[in-house]
Amino acid sequence: MKADKPRFRFAPSPTGGLHIGTARTALFNWISAKSMNGDLILRIEDTDLKRSTEEFEKSIIEGLKWLGFDWDEFYRQSDRIKLYEAEAQRLLKEDKAYMCFCRPERLETLREKLISEGKPIGYDNKCRNMSKEEINENLKNHIEYTIRYKVSDGEVKFNDLIRGEIKFSSDVISDFVLIKSDSTPSYNFAVVVDDNDMKITHVLRGEDHITNTARQILLFNSLGYKIPDFAHLSMILGKDGAKLSKRHGAATISQFRDEGYLREAMANYLSLLSWAPRDAEEIFYLSDILNKFKISDISKNPAIFDIDKLNWLNGIYIRKKSNMDLFDLILPFLLRENIVKSEDLSNIRIKNKILKCVDAFRDNLRTLAQFPDYVRDFFSNEIKYYDQEALEILRLGSSKIVIDMFAEKLQEINLQEKAVGINTDIIIDDEKAREIINEIGNRLKDDNIKGKLLYMPIRASLTGKVHGPELPKVISILGIEECLNRIGGTLNFLIDN
Ligand code: GLU
Repeated sequence: MKADKPRFRFAPSPTGGLHIGTARTALFNWISAKSMNGDLILRIEDTDLKRSTEEFEKSIIEGLKWLGFDWDEFYRQSDRIKLYEAEAQRLLKEDKAYMCFCRPERLETLREKLISEGKPIGYDNKCRNMSKEEINENLKNHIEYTIRYKVSDGEVKFNDLIRGEIKFSSDVISDFVLIKSDSTPSYNFAVVVDDNDMKITHVLRGEDHITNTARQILLFNSLGYKIPDFAHLSMILGKDGAKLSKRHGAATISQFRDEGYLREAMANYLSLLSWAPRDAEEIFYLSDILNKFKISDISKNPAIFDIDKLNWLNGIYIRKKSNMDLFDLILPFLLRENIVKSEDLSNIRIKNKILKCVDAFRDNLRTLAQFPDYVRDFFSNEIKYYDQEALEILRLGSSKIVIDMFAEKLQEINLQEKAVGINTDIIIDDEKAREIINEIGNRLKDDNIKGKLLYMPIRASLTGKVHGPELPKVISILGIEECLNRIGGTLNFLIDN
């Protein structure tokens, strides 16, 4: 017999954004489906009407797309209410479910009583054996009801693809609700009806659902459905061993994106939460691991979310990008921080400056959001602040000689290039800048002006600081005219202060 085509589903509830844990579940479903030539179904589980919102659904879908996932079919549970109702009616007819007229207040009192007695929380089956007359009387009086599943005695057993055999005694499961009083299905019921209707062959989700799996298997059997395979991913813990929470850093994928993580790094990192290729390679694009991936290789140990490792990986992916690609990625961060304005982008000098900054700072970055701080000073019109150390250097007698000579040299190039109509900002690259410094160094060698005495005044006159990126880079980022402006500003500052 031909085996069924594998069909996976990712079933987020739109009651929050796409969190790390949910994104990891999506990722493993996506990789599993792709690596087994199967289908992936995206199913929005929005039957909790009070907590589900369209915005969350949108942000989950955006997050999935950003991470690079695609799916073959899409469903929303709120569009499928009739199907759940029909299946619940079938269970009622077959005497596998019953109407429960207990009021929420009664259930709450029962809950409190069980808690105070230290007993497991559950339903006490009050309505299980209600007579037909009593039921009809309640219906006639329009008393609201839920439909509850009749849990039968026995054992529930399944073979988890990651954890091996898992067994439950159904004693620990009390009669649970299938359809709520507002006619919406409970999570456990809708999932089972859908997993059957959508011909799901593999259910891969977080381990917090293991006890639900027991309930769902009972339902699969009662409804006469074929039971899929199950695999439960371990929890994600923070480095401190506590369950991952907001305390451990950004919580949703869109927050990580806004903090300047690259999608490739994020996807790579998420896949390492619970899995590692057998060759122990840690840096890969998801497309590279499809033929290496097996569900049975997923680890059952808790995964540890380590932000330092994610930062490290992110830096690696940043360095893999071309300058042009990084330019595009970095631009939203510069705009967000008001370092450039969108109308500036038609200005070739500004574009060029950004590109030079990208080239100068790309190796320092762990996240894109760090970029604005590295470059902020290069985009202001003047030096806003001089460090004490920089002022001390600038006040040395030899510094004046160096700075004058440097400015003269720049002026000379500027005039030459302008005469032939060349844009001097483009002409002054790192190499040319280095040449100029060397030439000045040679001329001042005999006066014993070299090393720090040569470099520091130039740097301080251009940036107001004694530390920063390599001096030739600073000169090339600023361009000749701006270097001259800044030197002029510094000389004036020294006169006045
Ligand atoms: N809607 C459930 C959740 O977000 C999914 C559970 C499942 O995959 O069955 O936790």
